[in-house]
Amino acid sequence: MLHDPNLRTVSGMRPTGPLHIGHYFGALKNWVPMQETHSAYFFVADWHALTSDYADTSRLKGFVRGLVIDWLASGLDPEKCAIFQQSKVLEHAELSLLLGMITPVSWLERNPTYKEQQQEITNKDLGNFGFLGYPVLMAADILMYRPKWVPVGQDQLPHLELTREIARRFNGFYGPVFPEPEARLTPAAKCPGLDGRKMSKSYGNGIFLQDTMEEIAPKVRGMFTDPARLRKSDPGNPDVCNLYPYHELLTDPETRAEIREGCTTAKLGCVDCKKIFMKNLEAFLAPLHERRAKYVERPELVDDILAEGNKAAKAEASRTMQDVREAMHM
Ligand code: SF4
Repeated sequence: MLHDPNLRTVSGMRPTGPLHIGHYFGALKNWVPMQETHSAYFFVADWHALTSDYADTSRLKGFVRGLVIDWLASGLDPEKCAIFQQSKVLEHAELSLLLGMITPVSWLERNPTYKEQQQEITNKDLGNFGFLGYPVLMAADILMYRPKWVPVGQDQLPHLELTREIARRFNGFYGPVFPEPEARLTPAAKCPGLDGRKMSKSYGNGIFLQDTMEEIAPKVRGMFTDPARLRKSDPGNPDVCNLYPYHELLTDPETRAEIREGCTTAKLGCVDCKKIFMKNLEAFLAPLHERRAKYVERPELVDDILAEGNKAAKAEASRTMQDVREAMHM
């Protein structure tokens, strides 16, 4: 792992179930190259999972391990980055508590995700303090590693802005401890679910990284394409097709041009188009499945990787907390 503080970055994911290919193309694909050039900290945000999924924690341990296996399968290498579990580095809780002291509640209430999710998620009671305060925990997770920048999707920008505001407020009260991390926007990948809605575990409309090709085949067969194309003899339109965005991710440009031409002139049927997709998906998933097998067979390896990562994260977190406590005269 690299140890240049100027090249430090941190990112996490909530352990709420198996990752689908949308997670790969939306985040992991960007994470993997970072470990080559940065001191990268990747954490399993298990406390974050509790902010909304607090009522039933019976599957949490399995989800933590499963998430790390998905990361390793996708190419994260514990020799090159720190993979750790948030709840095992207690400094995150301490920093979150201290940052909570200086964060106005109004900043949290105006968080767009807070309002949106409270309206949208009706099957859970999100009136808990932890849910309102999760951006403070997020700020602690980021600021702990004092990165110059963090990779974020467009939807995460308001959170990062809040982190920057909290850092600024802290530095204003107690002196310069935290750099304000800048956002590095990760390219958004379009990965619609099999039914055209957002790919999500809860809709049951995803292709998961752990799925075998036998499991994937019926999902792809049932995948929505151009809704106006009822027969093979009808010309199709890739721009309204649910499958075509996957060709953008997995198919080479030359074949893509052939697909577009074949589709719009009704020379290529959706069944054959799906066959091309399946072939490319299989080639994409093969190395992931190969890497995964080792960890599924020997899950204790995952525990060892987490133990090492926890240690590395804790070392960095202790340094930060020393500065924080000193600055705050604690
Ligand atoms: S041929 Fe391919 S791109 Fe065209 S509508 Fe069918 S699945 Fe979509």
